[in-house]
Amino acid sequence: PRSKLPDVGTTIFTVIGQLAAQYDALNLSQGAPNFAPDPALVEGAAAAMRRGHNQYAPMAGVARLREALADKVERLYGTRYDADGEVTIVASASEGLYATISALVHSGDEVIYFEPSFDSYAPIVRLQGAQAIAIKLSPLTFRVDWDAVAAAISPRTRMIIINTPHNPSATIFDEHDIARLKALVDGTDIVVLSDEVYEHVVFDGATHQSMARHAQLAQRSVVVSSFGKTHHVTGWRVGYCLAPAELMTEIRKVHQFMVFSADTPMQYALADALAEPNSYLGLAAFYERKRDLLAGALASSRFELLPSRGSFFMLARFRGFSDERDSDFVQRLIRDLRVATIPLSAFYTDGADTGVIRLSFSKDDATLIEGARRLCEA
Ligand code: GLN
Repeated sequence: PRSKLPDVGTTIFTVIGQLAAQYDALNLSQGAPNFAPDPALVEGAAAAMRRGHNQYAPMAGVARLREALADKVERLYGTRYDADGEVTIVASASEGLYATISALVHSGDEVIYFEPSFDSYAPIVRLQGAQAIAIKLSPLTFRVDWDAVAAAISPRTRMIIINTPHNPSATIFDEHDIARLKALVDGTDIVVLSDEVYEHVVFDGATHQSMARHAQLAQRSVVVSSFGKTHHVTGWRVGYCLAPAELMTEIRKVHQFMVFSADTPMQYALADALAEPNSYLGLAAFYERKRDLLAGALASSRFELLPSRGSFFMLARFRGFSDERDSDFVQRLIRDLRVATIPLSAFYTDGADTGVIRLSFSKDDATLIEGARRLCEA
């Protein structure tokens, strides 16, 4: 067939995961926990199945979960989303991104996003017949050049996609970023799509800059987040979207035909988990300790570690001791040292190679320590 995405291959997370399995490598690549969620959560899903919650959930999500979420978001960020019309439970944040872009971006529109970037944004935009406009974050510090964003905005700009905490650079937006974003979109009809799946994984006492914290931005934003990242259940494929009613009405039109509704028993289990604030408020400290454990274990390596301010990730620069392409370097680490990571070039559409790899520390301590020991041999 004539490909709609001729330049897109299999996602890097699948490619590296298969290589890791083939060489029996320790896997520090995909941002997914290799440890178990709270047993009470698993029991909650099993109990929901036994109680008979095995058929379609309501299209917008189980009401109790939407209400618990609206309460949580208001408590944490100040914006009250109406559980009926402004909160939708989706079958993964990935589906939420797809449904949102597909519902709101027309063919011929332009969508601005930042690279390095999670790999799905640009392909989803292009599948709408729209143009994905990449703006590169600053080298090594990965800040947004807001003057470049201002210059890229045109009458066709329909959406700006942001992601904080940021995958893969582990940077976070600060108040300056919010002020610049607010000023740029003010008076336009640009929608902000805010991928906040690492919202509870922000380090060193910093504040997560949710769009739901800023009333003016919340009015024009779709917030997409993930229960998988927050509750250690990435395989459950349950996430959510928050948006003003007029945007949400359009998003639901697409969501209903993509999957109709998300998994029912998982939604009941997550509704119970949300009643327990420790299930998410302790997450930053939990991952901050893992970040520090990995960084400490790599201190004697030849890598230059870049600061990780949020997310499950840390970037490590090897250009100081090797001129290899990052993808070759990663393959060699898998084959020779049996440790899997992600080459940063995979997050650039032009494949820019800066001699940097991405490590995930969403792993048990033994895996982090042994992974670092192997990386110290590089
Ligand atoms: N978000 C995760 C990562 O960046 C994995 C997502 C995926 O495998 N689709 O590693």
